[in-house]
Amino acid sequence: MDREKTYGLLLSRFPGIIVRDEPLSRHTTIQIGGPADLFCEVNSVKTLLPVLQSSCELRIPAVVIGGGSNLLVDDKGFRGLIVKFVNREPLYLDFPLLTVSAGQTLRELLEYTAEHSLSGLEFLAGIPGSVGGAVYMNAGAYGKTISELVRRAVIIGNDHELQTVSPDFFQFNYRSSILHACPRIVVSVTLEVSRGDASAIRKECERVIAVRAGKHPKPSVPCAGSYFKNLPPERPGENRRAAGYLLEQAGAKSMKIGGAGVYSEHANIIINTGNATAQDVLELGKKMKKAVFEKYNIMLEEEVRFLDAQKGII
Ligand SMILES: Cc1cc2nc3c(=O)[nH]c(=O)nc-3n(C[C@H](O)[C@H](O)[C@H](O)COP(=O)(O)OP(=O)(O)OC[C@H]3O[C@@H](n4cnc5c(N)ncnc54)[C@H](O)[C@@H]3O)c2cc1C
Repeated sequence: MDREKTYGLLLSRFPGIIVRDEPLSRHTTIQIGGPADLFCEVNSVKTLLPVLQSSCELRIPAVVIGGGSNLLVDDKGFRGLIVKFVNREPLYLDFPLLTVSAGQTLRELLEYTAEHSLSGLEFLAGIPGSVGGAVYMNAGAYGKTISELVRRAVIIGNDHELQTVSPDFFQFNYRSSILHACPRIVVSVTLEVSRGDASAIRKECERVIAVRAGKHPKPSVPCAGSYFKNLPPERPGENRRAAGYLLEQAGAKSMKIGGAGVYSEHANIIINTGNATAQDVLELGKKMKKAVFEKYNIMLEEEVRFLDAQKGII
């Protein structure tokens, strides 16, 4: 069956839910990305499952995204279906375990924990995106990662059944999980929290956000966070080496290609200065990587995930 026919079939099965030719620049924080042939925003597992099942049956490639805060999308968009998971089912607390939908934003999660005097997640304050994206990326800051709190999760298995998995399943690593090599959709996550004082929790979140504000561009400046991963510690017990420091020493701060430029306050952040294309960002990333390699003989590794129009996330 040709592509247009299968698209037509999927659209007819989910009228009013799946749309055509949605610009993905609207769904990424760096505001770059061509159109997805098919796109839907899904706010329940009840819709997510049949949508993914149907796209699989019709052999239409599908990719699930969250807040698009760690994504660079191809200028050609995506030949298939993009599902934006924005499920905001109520959180469920069975202390010390807190279960949250993967479509919930980290921000909403932190609002809930502060309101209910639950501590342990404050280091995530200010990180954009969804809980699902945070698990996929093993997001974190200040030496802590979400993986330390994950006690179990519900994912969509190979046969489109819901499956509960333990933290071992994810093979968490620095800004990585098994989901990079073996994509599965995270539906919900159960985190272990501790009791705390609501005002102290809020204060700590505010402190973390204030520290971040000194380093990151304002929320109105389009970017995707750190472009490259930090490097492993030189000696056991030491902190990771900041890729931003090496980039700065290698002269990255003055680099710019087309509409993509390096943020003046942080050499590991690429910003969209207006009309940047994904190609501009990719070329700038290459130039930054080359400069560090030539100065330090170190090959940086991209943290931002690239969504290729044909191959999906690579
Ligand atoms: C200003 C700024 C600051 C940032 N600071 C930090 C930081 O301090 N620390 C940090 O770790 N990151 C940081 N980031 C990066 C980003 O916010 C995190 O990686 C975040 O966790 C990504 O979540 P998301 O929902 O936006 O994922 P997306 O960008 O939407 O997707 C990222 C990947 O996750 C996959 N994915 C998304 N949802 C699911 C799901 N439900 N199931 C399976 N896979 C899924 C996608 O397919 C994609 O491959 C920053 C980004 C910005 C813009």
